[in-house]
Amino acid sequence: NLKEELVELDKKHFIHPTSNMKQLQEDGPTFIFTEGDGIYLKDVEGRKLIDSLSSLWNVNIGHGRKELAEVAKKQMEKLAFTSTFNNWSHEPVIRLAAEIAKWTPGDLNATFFTSGGSEANDTAFKTVRHYWKIKGLPEKKKIISRKLSYHGVAMGATSATGIEQFHTFTTSIAPDFHYVDSSVESLKELIAKEGADTIAAYISEPVQGSGGVNLPPQGYFQAVREICDENNILFIADEVICGFGRLGTNFGIERFGVIPDIITMAKGITSGYAPLGGMILSERLHNDIIEKTEGNFWHGYTYSGHPTAAAVALKNLEIIKNENLMDNVNIVGKQMLEGFEWIKEQNDNVDNVRGMGLLGAISLEKASKSVEPIGPKIVAKALEKGLICRSVIYDGQDTLAFAPPLIITKNQMDDMITIINESIKAVK
Ligand code: PLP
Repeated sequence: NLKEELVELDKKHFIHPTSNMKQLQEDGPTFIFTEGDGIYLKDVEGRKLIDSLSSLWNVNIGHGRKELAEVAKKQMEKLAFTSTFNNWSHEPVIRLAAEIAKWTPGDLNATFFTSGGSEANDTAFKTVRHYWKIKGLPEKKKIISRKLSYHGVAMGATSATGIEQFHTFTTSIAPDFHYVDSSVESLKELIAKEGADTIAAYISEPVQGSGGVNLPPQGYFQAVREICDENNILFIADEVICGFGRLGTNFGIERFGVIPDIITMAKGITSGYAPLGGMILSERLHNDIIEKTEGNFWHGYTYSGHPTAAAVALKNLEIIKNENLMDNVNIVGKQMLEGFEWIKEQNDNVDNVRGMGLLGAISLEKASKSVEPIGPKIVAKALEKGLICRSVIYDGQDTLAFAPPLIITKNQMDDMITIINESIKAVK
C-alpha cells in the first residue's frame, strides 16, 4: 500500500516545517498530496479537496497551470541557472525587475531577489541598517514590528515576528527588535521611549495573515506613515501574502492609501510555482545607497535572481493581468464576506467575521473564551466534507483563516461557504 509506505518513510526521515512533531509521529501526515487542479488538491487516497488557503497563501493562480510548467521547462533547457553576483546578469531577472517596477506604487523601482519571504525581510533589515550607517547614523538600527505579525523564520525575520511561540521555540532572539500593539498611541510611546535616533524601520503586513487575518484599525497606516516621516523611520510593507492581487490591488498597502519606503514580497510573485521573494526599494533609498556605499553591497544569496524562478514569475504576473484576476478578487471577495456574514447570522458561536479581497477570517472566540478552541474540530469536519482550511489559535484566538486562489469562481465560492457553514453547525 503506497500510502502506508509513504507514511512510514515520512515519520522516520522527513522533518516537517512548523509542525507538531509528536503528533506527526503518532498520526503521520494527514495528507499526502499527489495532484492539483485549479482550486482543488488531490491526495494519495484519491480525495479531492478545496484548497481554501491556496496551500500556504500562495498558489494564487491555482494549481496545475501548464503555462508555468512550459516556461520553466524552456528556461531550464536554455539556462536553468547562473549567478547574478557582482557584475553578472541575465534576461529573465532583468525583465522581472523591470516588470515589478510597473506593479509598484510610487518610486519603488528596484528589486533585490531572494528565495522567499524570510530572506526578503532579513535583507530589508540589513539594508535599512546599512542605509542609516552610511548616512552617518549607525545607532539608528532598531526594528519595530506589530504583535501577532508574521515575518518568517530567518534570524531577523523570526525576531521581527510578533507571535510568541516563534520566540520561545529558541533560546535567543536577535537584539534591537521591538513590538507594538495595533494602536497609534503605542507606536508613539515606543518611539518616545526608545528615541527616534535609535530606530531604523517599522515593518507591518497590510493585513496580518498567519496571526489570524487581522485588519488594521481605521486610518492606522496613514497615521503610521506620518509618524515614520516625522521621525525619520523607514516604513517596510511586508507584502508576502498581500502582494500581487490578494487584496484586489497590486499591493495590499495601496488599499490604505499609503506608499512605503520598502516592500518585501514572495509567495504570490510566482504563485508558488518556484521559490522566489525579494525586497523592493524606493528610488530615493536605492540612489542614496549607490552614492554613499563605498564598497560592495555585502549581501546576496546563491539564488538571488534565479533565472528559472524569474521566468516563472514573469509568466505568473502576465496571467494575473491577462485574466483580470484582481477584478475577480473584488467580486468573489465581496461574495466571500457576505457568505461569512450569512454564516455568522446562523451560528451563535461565530463572534466576528472579516476580510479584504480574498483574505478572510471567521472568529469563534465567543464560544471558546473559557473552553478549548473549536476551530481545530471545525477544520476536521470541513475536511470530511472536502475542504482544507486553517485554524489559528495563537494568543488565545480561535479563528478560521481563508485565502482561496484568486481564480476561484462564484460557484466554487458558494461551495466553500456551504461547507464552512455545515462544518461549524456540525461542531456546535
Ligand atoms: N512574511 C509574511 C507576511 C508571511 O506570511 C510569510 C510566510 O508565511 C513570510 C514573511 C515568510 O516567508 P517564507 O516562508 O517564504 O520565508
